[in-house]
Amino acid sequence: MASDLPATPLSRARKRFGQHFLHDPAIVRRIVNCVATDEGETVVEIGPGRGALTGLLASCGAQLHLVEIDRELAGDLMVRYAEAPAVTVHTGDVLRFDFTALAGQLNTRLVLVGNLPYNIASPLLIALLSVLDCVDRAIFMLQREVAQRLAAMPGSRDYGRLTVMVSRLCTVEILFDVRPGAFRPPPKVDSTLVRLCPRIAPLGPPVDSQAYSQVVRTAFSQRRKTLRNSLRSYHPDLAFKEAGIDPGTRPETLSAAQFAQLTAALYPG
Ligand code: SAM
Repeated sequence: MASDLPATPLSRARKRFGQHFLHDPAIVRRIVNCVATDEGETVVEIGPGRGALTGLLASCGAQLHLVEIDRELAGDLMVRYAEAPAVTVHTGDVLRFDFTALAGQLNTRLVLVGNLPYNIASPLLIALLSVLDCVDRAIFMLQREVAQRLAAMPGSRDYGRLTVMVSRLCTVEILFDVRPGAFRPPPKVDSTLVRLCPRIAPLGPPVDSQAYSQVVRTAFSQRRKTLRNSLRSYHPDLAFKEAGIDPGTRPETLSAAQFAQLTAALYPG
């Protein structure tokens, strides 16, 4: 296993790219075991960095696509995998990466994997919600606080916009926590591995996803206000009645399915 990790010191960790490199082989193996990929699959590793996960992922026999923003690290990976036809390196920002095009070109659904840079985790999760058609599952290392928000139950402190956006479309499974000492340099926070799987059908009635997103955003923009107050601009009295939702409640008590009911009532037809 140790041979998959770079033997020579490489570039310094770049803070702006959220670089905290895994260096604990036991944790690397646990993560790759959770990915549980095999030959028929196409894996996209987001932010492969110095390749801590990449070596083991490549040895599983799947087609592997690496998306790395740091040109120097992407260049090192291109050299390392020059003789490996199953590995393709894409240099660039994953927030601009066209997952749909890759899946269409290969006629397959993608397995996404990444020890994600903390600064892009939430925007990436939101962006991925619009390409779930081409995703089989995603196994991500996240800041523990973000993982807790994803898996939070209605009414809890961590429950919020991210929970409601993601949970309508995906199941969220907390896999295990990782201490800062498993990374170099160590981050200031704990991390958690999660597995997201697209649901067969979204929770609640079918709704336009932009309308849903807008209702959720508006409801949580003033978390302490009741739904009646935060959604006032929608003139929502009839919609509350139709959706069977008490307008005096706060947004963090509503499930994703209830937000979908409310959206359907606010945007009929
Ligand atoms: N996977 C490696 C590991 O576990 O050791 C590195 C993980 S490090 C937390 C995050 C990686 O994502 C870095 O290699 C960083 O350069 C890369 N990265 C940061 N922002 C990115 C972006 N917008 N698009 C693609 N890669 C990015």
